[in-house]
Amino acid sequence: MTSQLLFYLIIAILVVNFLVDKWLDYLNSTYFDHEIPEILEDVYEDQEYYKSQDYKKENFKFSSIISIFSFLLTLAFFFYKGFAYVDEYARSLSDHPIVIALVFFGIIMIGSDVLTTPFSYYKTFVIEEKYGFNKSTKGLFFIDKIKGWVLMILLGGSILALIIWFYQQTGKNFWVYTWIFMAAFSIFMMLFYSSLIVPLFNKQTPLQEGELKSKLEEFAKKVGFNLDKIFVIDGSKRSTKANAYFTGFGKKKRIVLYDTLIDDLESDEIVSVLAHEVGHYKKKHVVFNMIVSILMTGFTLFIFSLLIDSKLLSNALSVTEPSFHIGLIAFGVLYTPISEITGLLMNYISRKFEFQADDYAKTNFGAIPLISSLKKLSKNSLSNLTPHKAYVFMHYSHPTLLQRVQNLNS
Ligand SMILES: [Zn+2]
Repeated sequence: MTSQLLFYLIIAILVVNFLVDKWLDYLNSTYFDHEIPEILEDVYEDQEYYKSQDYKKENFKFSSIISIFSFLLTLAFFFYKGFAYVDEYARSLSDHPIVIALVFFGIIMIGSDVLTTPFSYYKTFVIEEKYGFNKSTKGLFFIDKIKGWVLMILLGGSILALIIWFYQQTGKNFWVYTWIFMAAFSIFMMLFYSSLIVPLFNKQTPLQEGELKSKLEEFAKKVGFNLDKIFVIDGSKRSTKANAYFTGFGKKKRIVLYDTLIDDLESDEIVSVLAHEVGHYKKKHVVFNMIVSILMTGFTLFIFSLLIDSKLLSNALSVTEPSFHIGLIAFGVLYTPISEITGLLMNYISRKFEFQADDYAKTNFGAIPLISSLKKLSKNSLSNLTPHKAYVFMHYSHPTLLQRVQNLNS
């Protein structure tokens, strides 16, 4: 294979990926006005339903504009040898491979973030604002941005530096050391994410004593789930959309409820949400996901290690001197067909798991409060109740509301 052929293969992957994505979005949009299934008719009042239609359509239009813009930008970068220019510039600053790679990715990442910031600003302060979701202020928006950058530079930068160091020390075998490190890092993050990263952006407070807390504890006790940490997070700082999640394992496990969730739902409904989360834990979904993601990281790194030395990768991007960072960019694109397939598989498994967690909640607590909480949450986030099957198959990590309600009713 010649480097020119590889270049066109990269472009072809980018184009096909883009077209498939747009086609799915389009299919989904043709279902926007479909009739709402009978068992979901009570989700929206008329007025809210019209609002949800507008919200869907506006988001569809807006995300199409963003993706066309970033697709064209990416293509231009490839065709006009953008990576070669940035590489050359980074090499003019230092001879050290780690410094070159850090400067290279720093420019690419911060550059693309700066270019997309106007879009996320518009999304937050125009679209979300218009539909009453936005609670963030302009100050908070930019402080979040800066914190995100600092985190990316410190954490992302040191991880990248370490991986390149492994590569310098051990050559092709770097993948084994990187794999071990990444596995340890993701376990560490799972344990300490809530106490190290979340506090940079949000405040978490233990749930106050009261009816809700005793109901949650009573349920946890009944099913033999050791729950000593229930936290409330101030999600209302940024958005009215509600959520709840479960994090950590062993002694570090905790359940985190958005303050917006507590405002929106009755206490029985919140217990049903907890029951669903406990279901994930009891059915070992948390451990399964962890193991699969570690195995997949290993697989990806191994494939990358087979190609990293090839001059072809760098030449395809018009860079004469092969390097880790240029190889990573080319590999990143070449690997998309595989990551699309693994992503599809993971979504499929995740949807199965959601049914299992719902079944667990149904058996151990009851279907009715879970159905009403799912409906309320859908209503309050103006969810699409009529997604297209193909779109769901490709993109949904959760079954549709209709499927979940049908399953809970059965
Ligand atoms: Zn779930």
